[in-house]
Amino acid sequence: MANTYSKLQNSHPCFGGNRNNTGRIHLPVSPGCNISCKFCDRKINDHEERPGVTSKVLSPVEALEVLEKALKLCPEITVAGIAGPGDTLATDYALETFRLIKERFPHLIKCMSTNGLLLKERADEIIEIGVESVTVTVNAVDPEIEARLNRFIVYHGKVYIGIEGAAILIKNQLEGIRKLAKAGITVKVNTVLVPSINGDHIEEIAKTVKEAGASIYNIIPLIPQSDLSGEEAPVCKEIDDARTAAGKHIDVFRHCQHCRADAVGLLGGKDYGDMIYERRVAGS
Ligand code: SF4
Ligand code: SF4
Repeated sequence: MANTYSKLQNSHPCFGGNRNNTGRIHLPVSPGCNISCKFCDRKINDHEERPGVTSKVLSPVEALEVLEKALKLCPEITVAGIAGPGDTLATDYALETFRLIKERFPHLIKCMSTNGLLLKERADEIIEIGVESVTVTVNAVDPEIEARLNRFIVYHGKVYIGIEGAAILIKNQLEGIRKLAKAGITVKVNTVLVPSINGDHIEEIAKTVKEAGASIYNIIPLIPQSDLSGEEAPVCKEIDDARTAAGKHIDVFRHCQHCRADAVGLLGGKDYGDMIYERRVAGS
């Protein structure tokens, strides 16, 4: 495995790499999803700055063309990531794209996010392709809590609702994390913090995913939307408390910018997506 966690800490802007000279691109090649989070609101638009939003969905070949353009505009890009707008393993497009990237741009770090439902069964391919870092969103390790955040899963063609689906999801996430970590892949875990649902559960999640082999943990504050539009977004103290609780067990990542699924450039810097996707600028 080319990149261990400590190497990524120098070369990946989201793991501590110098954010002035290492950038990332998210290639939006994964439209569909196989679970139904109650806070999810995937959108195609040019203006919202959040995960699950993209100006367009690309095919793997188009993604390679976009990557080529992006590297000309922003040669500092060291990381080619795929983070939606749906789940990267619900369709085959993400792994196909990584295979193309591996051939054409072998120097780039390959990074992906997933809900983890299919992580265990796709782990061998992820390892073989040489993906260096995988982010798994684990919102609970207790099926009763997960079922309050997730309506259902679709697993091998069958729909599992509520606690039954949640239990399968959690089991697959943890087995997938174990398998990847054992192979030397850096695993980051994201948790969407919904204070009234999983606020008191964060320490348990952090401890469990660390034991499974995750290296780093990231709290994503809920954006109240969809079925959870009536929930309050966490306030700073709730986010801080959650980070402190998680930090007893695992390294905590504090600088996530909650980027769009088609973000391009340096973190917190100019987004070249405007030029690449010819996004409409407000008022024009
Ligand atoms: Fe939406 Fe992501 Fe949840 Fe799928 S895993 S339902 S894309 S938030
Ligand atoms: Fe990095 Fe967070 Fe942006 Fe992903 S969403 S590229 S982890 S800052």
